[in-house]
Amino acid sequence: MLGLMQDWPLLLHRIIDHAAQFHGERKVITRSIEGPIVETNYAAIRARALKVAQRLAKDGIKLGDRVATLAWNTARHLEAWYGIVGIGAIYHTVNPRLFPEQIVWIVNHAEDRMMFVDLTFVPLLEKIADKLPTIERYIVLTDAAHMPAATLKNSLAYEDWIAEVDGDFAWKKFDENTASGMCYTSGTTGHPKGVLYSHRSNVLHAFMAALPDSKGIASRDVVMPVVPMFHANCWSLAFSTPMVGATLVMPGAKMDGASIYELLNTYKVSFTAAVPTVWLMLLQDLEKTGGKLPHLKRVVIGGSACPRAITKTFQDTYGVEVVHAWGMTEMSPLGTLCTMKPEYAQLTGEAQLDVKMKQGHPPFGVEMKITDDAGKTLPWDGKTFGRLKVRGPAVARAYYKVDNDPVFEKDGWFDTGDVATIDQYGYMQITDRAKDVIKSGGEWISTIDLENLAVGHPKVAEAAVIGVAHPKWDERPLLVIVLKKGESATKEDILGFMQGKTAKWWMPDDVVFVDEIPHTATGKIQKITLRQRFKDYVLPGVQAAE
Ligand code: ADP
Repeated sequence: MLGLMQDWPLLLHRIIDHAAQFHGERKVITRSIEGPIVETNYAAIRARALKVAQRLAKDGIKLGDRVATLAWNTARHLEAWYGIVGIGAIYHTVNPRLFPEQIVWIVNHAEDRMMFVDLTFVPLLEKIADKLPTIERYIVLTDAAHMPAATLKNSLAYEDWIAEVDGDFAWKKFDENTASGMCYTSGTTGHPKGVLYSHRSNVLHAFMAALPDSKGIASRDVVMPVVPMFHANCWSLAFSTPMVGATLVMPGAKMDGASIYELLNTYKVSFTAAVPTVWLMLLQDLEKTGGKLPHLKRVVIGGSACPRAITKTFQDTYGVEVVHAWGMTEMSPLGTLCTMKPEYAQLTGEAQLDVKMKQGHPPFGVEMKITDDAGKTLPWDGKTFGRLKVRGPAVARAYYKVDNDPVFEKDGWFDTGDVATIDQYGYMQITDRAKDVIKSGGEWISTIDLENLAVGHPKVAEAAVIGVAHPKWDERPLLVIVLKKGESATKEDILGFMQGKTAKWWMPDDVVFVDEIPHTATGKIQKITLRQRFKDYVLPGVQAAE
């Protein structure tokens, strides 16, 4: 027997309809690419998104077509997303931090028909546009006054382009399983892989993301997504913020400490989210200026492991709650968030910080397990680590135009490629990427644990641990350090600091100091490059190969 409830497809543009109707006056504030800070609201965003939809239809864009965006977080980018999905086309966010050849590869693989581009990236595109044959037209997200001399195919200023229609338009109707968005994961080996979201998966994920034990945002919040829209759906904030009707602050192209601080305080931001590197910059800036964060209540930090020092400083010095989070492009992206369940609620000080170093527990809609290499489920004791696998309505079941990728297992589980523990209360902690974990004498050493420990040293700015070949143990850890500007330290200082805080056999065999550690386009340490660089490194006490 079927239920007798209405069939109301979970379509993304219904979110902006709701925001416009019930929170229409709520502000959307943007640091514009042209410079000034500009304000609009949800009612206006919806009206202009309808124009985008109408204008796209006039350009012949239809259900299932891919429309790329190469843009920062701004109100225009947001309007473009809702306009694209409102006719059943697919927003394809392109990460501008990728190498130009990678951008060429993914745009061709996605066969994007149009591209919305910020002024910042016009020069980049001009260099590669002749290699993008599927793109029929470029829309530059600006007005006529700021429009550069047009060299891109059929290019127009966004404001002129939408001015050609009147906005008297209705969203198209289609099934909730229709594709809505697309994002390629960096793919540290081989080509990037396309994740194709649906309206249903994105809407369900937005609900999950807004829950009290997830981001816990409400209409009274002022939300600033510093995490870019091109990084895994900006962790749902472009959907969950209008869904709850919160004020939205978009940081545009400026992500340095001073610019972020200006927005946080001027607009009384209460909730924000980004990768650890952004917060490191902000905290260093505050240390210099003596700035305070009286309005900020909560910050979600994820994308890579959040160093203990960041959590501690936010909480102890600035009174801001840190929620550590883990996710993946393939998961829309949220997987777990580290909010306190009653079992841990009474903890304080270092014991609380120990829990906050974990990536947390999943919201409803994410199933999770850890297994050994043979697929046997492992116990939830907080110590045993294994391959982390997930399932859920916002988890990918295949990559775009790739058949039978083994990460999508037969029984519906997705192998995340992460290695993790899960404790008795269901808190997951990442110990490593499966390909980064160090195998020493048949036992596993977590590089993330060692890195977290090393960055706790007051003179260390960044740390990376990689496995280096060892004749007896197969691999042993090498610690690579970038010191804070103007600081000096020795190998003995660093190892002395780590001594006693980790198992003896986990201690790095050697420490090297470098000026810079390479990063991926989404801000993660590029271990593959580091391993390449140190592949012939000879650890102390080991005979160099002839
Ligand atoms: P990309 O590989 O394109 O950067 P993702 O953002 O999807 O794409 O990266 C997901 C991976 O990032 C996860 O599988 C995990 O290894 C890592 N990651 C994300 N959040 C955390 C976290 N809080 N702690 C440790 N690792 C994390």
